Amino acid sequence: MKTLLIKNAQAIVTMDDFNTVLENTNIFIENNVITYIGEKEFAADEIIDASHHYVYPGLVNTHHHLYQTFTRNLPQVQKLELFDWLTTLYEIWRGITPEVVYYSSLTGMGELLKYGCTTCFDHHYVFPSSFAGELIDRQFAAAAELGIRFHASRGSMSRGKNDGGLPPNDLVQSVDQILDDSLRLVEKYHNPDSFSMQQVVLAPCSPFSVTSDLMVKTAELARQKNVRLHTHLAETKDEEDYCIEKFGMRPLAYMESLGWIGPDVWYAHGIHFTDDELKKLAETQTGVAHCPVSNQKLSSGIAQIPRMLELGVPVGLAVDGSASNDCSNLLAELRVAYLLHRLNSSESSPEGNAILRLATRGGAKLLGRDDIGSIELGKAADLFLIDINRVEYVGTQFDPQSLLATVGVNRPTAYTIVNGRVVSKAGELCLVDEHAVVQEANRQVTHLLKRL
Ligand SMILES: [Zn+2]
Repeated sequence: MKTLLIKNAQAIVTMDDFNTVLENTNIFIENNVITYIGEKEFAADEIIDASHHYVYPGLVNTHHHLYQTFTRNLPQVQKLELFDWLTTLYEIWRGITPEVVYYSSLTGMGELLKYGCTTCFDHHYVFPSSFAGELIDRQFAAAAELGIRFHASRGSMSRGKNDGGLPPNDLVQSVDQILDDSLRLVEKYHNPDSFSMQQVVLAPCSPFSVTSDLMVKTAELARQKNVRLHTHLAETKDEEDYCIEKFGMRPLAYMESLGWIGPDVWYAHGIHFTDDELKKLAETQTGVAHCPVSNQKLSSGIAQIPRMLELGVPVGLAVDGSASNDCSNLLAELRVAYLLHRLNSSESSPEGNAILRLATRGGAKLLGRDDIGSIELGKAADLFLIDINRVEYVGTQFDPQSLLATVGVNRPTAYTIVNGRVVSKAGELCLVDEHAVVQEANRQVTHLLKRL
C-alpha cells in the first residue's frame, strides 16, 4: 500500500454539503482514497508540507474537444460565429489522424492537470471517412500516461451536407459504423466502479450534424449498456432556427421527442432555453455544461446560470474545445464564469464558492459520480494545492472558498493529485516528458495545417 500525508494545510476547502473549510489540518491518503482528515499525524511514504497552501477538490471538466488543441489561435476564424466557424474548421479537421488525436489529448489534458483539473470529459466527434484508425483508444492511452481521470465519448456525425446537415459528407459515418464502434468502446473501456479512471459516454455531435435515427439508436444503446448521453444543445440562435425549420420543433422539444432527456443526459452550453424549458430540465434532472469562455468567444450568448441554479438544474463547468477557448485551463474558467454572471445578473449571480461548487460537485454529478468532487473521507484522492505565500494572494485569506473565482489564480498549481498520485508539481507534469511532448505535438500541428 502507498501512503501520502498532506500535512498541516493552511486551509482545506472541502466542498462538502456544509461548505466546510478546515484550517491547519492533515489529509491522509491510502493508495487512491482519502482515509483520514484531522489533526493526527501518520507516517507516510510521501509527505507534502502544506503549511502555506490551500487545498481544493480536483476540478471536473464536463465538455471539451481535445483535438481542437491543434487548431486554436487561427487568424481565419477569429471573427466567426459557430456555423461559419465550424464550416471553416471542418476543412482542417478532416486531416486528423490517430497521432493528432493522441498528441492533442496529451497537450490539452496536460494543461488541464497543471491548473487543477483532475477529471476530464472529452467530446470527440470527428471521424474522417478517409481512414479507419482507432481514435478514442489513443485518447485513453494519453490519459493513462498523464495520470488523469478520463471520461471519453464516442461522438459522431451522420448528417452530412447531402442530408441537409452542416458537415462535409466525408466527415460523417453510417449509423451502423457508429453504433458498432460505440459498443466496442463501451465494452473495452467503460468501468462503472468507484474510483474508475476510465468511462465511456455516447455523444452524437448536435442536431445539425446528426440524423434523428442515430440519436434514437444511440440513446437506446446507452440505456442498454448503462452509460451516459451527451450532445451540444441550445448553443446558438442558428441552431434554434435550424431545428424549427427542419423538425418543426425547438431544440429541447426535438431532443425530448428522441428520448434525449433525463438524469443520464447532459447538454453542452444550454444558452437559448426559455423559462419553461429550464423548468423541464430541472424536473427531469437533465444537466448543462456551462462554457463561459467559448460562449463569449463565439458570440453565442449567456447561459442563464443563476436561474438554472434557482430551479435546481444540474450544472457543471467546462472549457469547451480549445479552438473556441483557446486554451484548456478550467481554473481560469472559474473567474470568467464569476465575472460574466456578475455583469449580467448583478446580485442574483452565484458567489465565488458557488462557482467552485459547479466546477467540482456540479461536474461530478453530470458525469454520474459520487466518489469525486469533494474532500471527504472515502472519496477519491483527487485534489490540488495552491501556494498562497505570494504577493498575488496577500489579503485574500478571509475566504479561501471564493478565492479561485473572485481573485483568480493565474499560475499552475503547486501540486495536482489524481487518484492518490502526484501528477503535476510546481507547473511540471510528473509522469510524461513534457519537452518531448511539446516537440512532437508541434511537429504534428505543422503537419496537420500544412495539408490544407
Ligand atoms: Zn463543444
